[in-house]
Amino acid sequence: MRKEAEAGLELVWDGRALLGEGPVWDERTGELLWVDILNGRVHVYSWRAGTTRTVQLDRPIGAVVPRASGAGWVGAMRDGLYLIDPDTAALTRLASPESDKPDNRFNDGKCDDQGRFWAGTMSMRGEQGAGALYCLEPNGSVRKALEGVTVSNGLGWSPDGRTMYYIDSPTRQIAAFDYDPARGELSRRRIVVSLEGSDSQPDGMTVDAEGMLWVAEWDGWQVSRWNPLTGEKLGAVAVPAARVTSCAFGGPQGDELYITTATVGLGPEALERQPQAGGLFRIKPGVQGRPTHWYGG
Ligand code: ZN
Repeated sequence: MRKEAEAGLELVWDGRALLGEGPVWDERTGELLWVDILNGRVHVYSWRAGTTRTVQLDRPIGAVVPRASGAGWVGAMRDGLYLIDPDTAALTRLASPESDKPDNRFNDGKCDDQGRFWAGTMSMRGEQGAGALYCLEPNGSVRKALEGVTVSNGLGWSPDGRTMYYIDSPTRQIAAFDYDPARGELSRRRIVVSLEGSDSQPDGMTVDAEGMLWVAEWDGWQVSRWNPLTGEKLGAVAVPAARVTSCAFGGPQGDELYITTATVGLGPEALERQPQAGGLFRIKPGVQGRPTHWYGG
């Protein structure tokens, strides 16, 4: 349900993304990257300059992460995982693990502390359980870690790196796995947070320095904060857009929460009521995030 926008919430970029998603802070450049999945765009916000530039790609992109080497980005795209040259928008394919599923595309993705890139897929036709979660190792090999996923979203790790959190949006649940950092393997799945009974679906997610989860709520007008140890809701940041898609900490002190939103599927009346939908928002919620991890390959 719509509430007044949170005090202190700032509209950083007012570009009406169709499906803004996947913010990631690069402290080396002082830039926040995020994608517009359906438009195949990577937006790059410069903290110092306060300006945003856009890299237009030739196909949809579900997530982007910077490389540890500094040489460009890695993207989880419509038909596979690619190296991206930000200067030329040229793509170099790394892997297409679902070349047999032309109706699928990659969605959300994120790197672990060891530089593995985790990214999942979904059916563009809404087919249930057609997606999967993949892990791209720094050596370039790819393996399937989970299957039977419908809308792969919301990755994050506990501060000690021993727990991975994961969202398959239509389940309205946040799952946790024991995480083996040395092998990148998942075990002992359990549910730690449930949004059942709410109108919204959990989408993207980040973990703060205290180990609490910040969850973007699609059709929920907010980002909510949860304790994964107790399942308790700790608070929320109200956003003046229904389709809140993801969030990440950034800024020079790591204390700014960046929030992406979408306009996709909103009719003319809804868009009129949500003139800032599709924008990038920012707030200082009083807690810091964890450092961003890069793709190690
Ligand atoms: Zn998402």
